[in-house]
Amino acid sequence: LSHVYKDIKRGRHFKVLVNPFGGQGHAKRMWETVAEPIFKAAECTFDLTYTTHRYHAKEIARDLNIRLFDAVVSVSGDGVLHEVINGLMERPDAIIAHKLPVGAIPAGSGNALSYSLLGEDHGGHVTNAVLGIIKGRAMPVDLCSVTQGQGRYFSFVLQSFGLVADVDLGTEDMRWMGEARFTVAAIGKLMSQKSYPCELSYIPVETNVDKIRAEYNYKRQQSVVWADQTYDELDQSHPTIVDRFGGVNTPLNKSDGWITESDDVITAVGAKLPWISKGMLLNPASSPNDGLVDLIVFPKGTGRISGMNIMIGTETGEHIYHDKVRYMKVKAFRLTPKNTSGYISMDGEHTPYTPYQVEAHRGLISVLSI
Ligand code: ADP
Ligand code: MG
Repeated sequence: LSHVYKDIKRGRHFKVLVNPFGGQGHAKRMWETVAEPIFKAAECTFDLTYTTHRYHAKEIARDLNIRLFDAVVSVSGDGVLHEVINGLMERPDAIIAHKLPVGAIPAGSGNALSYSLLGEDHGGHVTNAVLGIIKGRAMPVDLCSVTQGQGRYFSFVLQSFGLVADVDLGTEDMRWMGEARFTVAAIGKLMSQKSYPCELSYIPVETNVDKIRAEYNYKRQQSVVWADQTYDELDQSHPTIVDRFGGVNTPLNKSDGWITESDDVITAVGAKLPWISKGMLLNPASSPNDGLVDLIVFPKGTGRISGMNIMIGTETGEHIYHDKVRYMKVKAFRLTPKNTSGYISMDGEHTPYTPYQVEAHRGLISVLSI
């Protein structure tokens, strides 16, 4: 039968990256026992690499012959995709390469993209993710540009400072727990009520949480949250990949509408995806191509009881209505740490503890999903 139907099937050709170190180290087994058989049954072909070191995925994306592949697929967490996207954006032909679709098979401990595409109940399932990759469509998704030090790189999930960064990066010794490590660590950190001195500047678009939610509900009803635009439609108005609000080393331009605050925070997180890990719907109104960053701030001094309520609220997204939590849509933000050491996490990857500025670029990457 498969012979008869051959002509109407078009098996895609993928570059597949499996990170044997991702999550609890099960990525190789997940690929071999679940994903690979489905790819083969669907007559997809692939070129497979097991990543052997940090930045390996980035090196591969930088040198990849993009004409040969329909997409790059990561079998790991968000970190490998972060590297792939940065590799594509570093190329001299980035303006073409950024359109190469990426696909995520959840096999890491932080699988934000997969949860955000498939939802809480299905985001962790390898088979669902594989179907999205072999049959799904490429959708345009925003990408954040980050300037830090003298450099510039890109982030597609979240940029975190304070508690969320500590939970993300300060828990490497808890990898054996799998995804649960984030929840367990977050409760511990909230109990300690540690706050972090910083200066936070942002260009607000909407700071009223009820208005943000109403706009989001309206978009959902119109089914435009994970938009139906194809890449070509969006491309008509495609912006250049130049930051409109300068970089971290240029003075803030007052006419852009910057607001600056210098109170300590428990955490400040910029994000483009709603789920940041299993069971953590941190940014419930985030939209893949509104061209904005969702900025969430837990100010210092929430108290332990409120802290726990906020934490419980993150399971459903209800925490954004808590009176101690601030949730905003911004065009850009800049965060300057006021102490000397700590964690800053970009899509779950380590970066130096120095000031950074983030700005969203509309529909810059392309993501495969059902
Ligand atoms: P997780 O969600 O489990 O953290 P990620 O996809 O985020 O999984 O990957 C975590 C890190 O593993 C990334 O920084 C990536 O560069 C790194 N990495 C990739 N391959 C290897 C390897 N063979 N050994 C060690 N680290 C690796
Ligand atoms: Mg990671």
